[in-house]
Amino acid sequence: MEYCNFCPGYCCYRLKGSVLLIDADDINRLARYFSIPDGEVRKRFMENRYTFKVKEDGSCIFQSNEKMIKRCTVHEARPSQCRRFPYGDTCPYLEREDLLSEIQPRVEKSLKSSWLKK
Ligand code: SF4
Ligand code: SF4
Repeated sequence: MEYCNFCPGYCCYRLKGSVLLIDADDINRLARYFSIPDGEVRKRFMENRYTFKVKEDGSCIFQSNEKMIKRCTVHEARPSQCRRFPYGDTCPYLEREDLLSEIQPRVEKSLKSSWLKK
């Protein structure tokens, strides 16, 4: 079961205790992706030297909230921390009951509809 397909993308939100750290390589990758100078990436998308801006709901400036899959609008050029998460381990957000309670009903609904189709 791929929980990511049923998750609002908590890893792309600025939740308490989480931080997305951006380095110079990440900036340059985005600059090449958008064909703009590194400084322009900093100006448009960075909140400070170390991290992206977030939207009002706390989600990453590059996250599309319209859909449940393929939400990262810069997926090909996403930062290295995003590429590595959850570092070959179980996603830590799934261990938080408050967050899991939002995903679980969607997972169950999907399982139920796939059983009904059989
Ligand atoms: S928070 Fe975890 S389950 Fe949700 S999209 Fe990110 S990696 Fe997937
Ligand atoms: S760059 Fe993409 S994968 Fe990384 S936090 Fe933002 S939306 Fe999520």
